[in-house]
Amino acid sequence: MSDKSLRSTLVNLDGASYKAYKEIRGNYQFPDFTLIIDYVQGDPFASPSKFRVKIPQSIANFPQQLYQSQGREIALRDYLTRQFYQVSRSISSHRGTGKSGLIAIAATGQEVLERTSVLIDAQFVEVRFVVGLPARGRRILGRQAAAMLCEDIPDIVHSALLYQSLNSEEIQQHVETAEDADWIRQELSAKNLVAFVANKAILPRRSGIDFRPLETNPVPFQSPPALEVEFNCPNRGVIRGMGIPEGVTLIVGGGYHGKSTLLQGIELGVYNHIPGDGREFVITKPNGVKIRAEDGRSVAGVDISPFINHLPQGRSTTHFSTTNASGSTSQAANIIEALEAGAQLLLVDEDTSATNFTIRDRRMQALIAKEKEPITPFIDKVRQLYHDYQVSTILVMGGSGDYFEVADTVIAMDNYQPYDVTEPAKAIALQYPTARQEEGGNSFGNISPRIPLPQSIDPSTHKRDIKVKVRDLNQITFGTEDIDLAAIEQIVDHGQLIAVASAMVYGKDNYFDSKTNLSTVLDLILKQIATKGLDSITDFPQGDLVLFRRFELAAAINRLRSLVIKSKQ
Ligand code: ADP
Ligand code: MG
Repeated sequence: MSDKSLRSTLVNLDGASYKAYKEIRGNYQFPDFTLIIDYVQGDPFASPSKFRVKIPQSIANFPQQLYQSQGREIALRDYLTRQFYQVSRSISSHRGTGKSGLIAIAATGQEVLERTSVLIDAQFVEVRFVVGLPARGRRILGRQAAAMLCEDIPDIVHSALLYQSLNSEEIQQHVETAEDADWIRQELSAKNLVAFVANKAILPRRSGIDFRPLETNPVPFQSPPALEVEFNCPNRGVIRGMGIPEGVTLIVGGGYHGKSTLLQGIELGVYNHIPGDGREFVITKPNGVKIRAEDGRSVAGVDISPFINHLPQGRSTTHFSTTNASGSTSQAANIIEALEAGAQLLLVDEDTSATNFTIRDRRMQALIAKEKEPITPFIDKVRQLYHDYQVSTILVMGGSGDYFEVADTVIAMDNYQPYDVTEPAKAIALQYPTARQEEGGNSFGNISPRIPLPQSIDPSTHKRDIKVKVRDLNQITFGTEDIDLAAIEQIVDHGQLIAVASAMVYGKDNYFDSKTNLSTVLDLILKQIATKGLDSITDFPQGDLVLFRRFELAAAINRLRSLVIKSKQ
């Protein structure tokens, strides 16, 4: 069918009842692209209709170098999503009841992520978006629909999706910045580093809800000379900045001097950032995980015995389950679960840590005997983690100098500038011994794999086989349960949650079988996505999926209150 027949169909539908829109499902050949209507909404207030456009490369004309590597392709797709977003926002307008008039693509933030909103190869550019088919009450506004579908959509395609209409320098920069960032991330381990913060990076954000860079007087980052390293990037050439070595690193300094801001930059350095973000070259190992206390969360069958033992009433800590964890038990579970999922770097901030999990000083050791304290504090485990498992830690710690003993590197933030204070911190540790007793034993302890029972991961309700919904950045409704992910700070895009929820359903259908452990299921799902694409975890083409990491998928599964872990024989 042609765009002309679509136009006449729509005009003929004018005044008909909304349900009649269902007949426009199908493919339409426009002069420059194919319009595909995959799904038509049932009423003007329902979730909007699902559309795709497919533009042949003979018309879109993107040079192959912009998508020749996986990293470049992801960045180009991200860029086109942003273009479509902007142009559709300026073009689409309210045209009646409910969502009438909407033309929208998944929103983006500061991170450059793999998205299913745009796909690209040598043949086609495919873009997925939603449309609110217009109505007045429940009557179809056919002429308005014709204008949207046959004029507005072609306009958006022409201004947002053809290479010739776009700013080629900006595209090049988007792609090359991401490529350089990928390159630094992949070079980190060769230099024995866990993170890198480039000189001139702008770390502070505008506000707690606005993640663009701070505009007024941000202090640009400048590495202390002793920690300065350089990377020779494929596009930008030499970039210098602070390298954080493997091992245990403390970030110290007075309150409000920029410690948490530095750590937050590092947390999100597992992702690439858009040019102009300020954190384009703040780069962290891909398997760095933020750890915090999260009292109230549920925990299922986690061996937290490296940190917690001898709970009152003889409660097991090798198969610890609770519907309401305390600050310390939640933080212990968060660490063990991250290790189980393969974390190689833990990021911890005193602001969001349980004090009794973090320190236990000489005086408290004297007053409360070790036998009466279930918690082995992190300070006595952090070196063993590195020694036994090569897991590094970066810890923000303004409040206790006891950690000087266990640190390899100490960075002080002073007026938002970092200083290397490793030597003085070590000298102070010698001068003022804490006289603490080490309580960590000889080794960190086991990280035992857990096998989830498939029937405990259940997306169904009594009415529906699958009910999955996502709210903001912090909640997945999975069957009859709401999973609270507000504490998972490395989820940065709504689409990641949609994809995580889909992956849980996919995992339930394909991999969880009472024999396979969680870490293996994470491997299988991530491998499936890497080889067959994000699209392969959903039944229909969706434009709202964004790639997540295994840690965030594990976090969602681990927070299911229904989750049951097979007990060890
Ligand atoms: P700390 O953790 O040391 O108490 P924060 O990292 O929370 O300090 O920072 C305190 C305030 O300073 C925040 O409002 C933050 O946005 C701002 N800030 C942090 N780094 C910078 C910087 N480089 N330039 C300007 N302001 C900054
Ligand atoms: Mg802080």
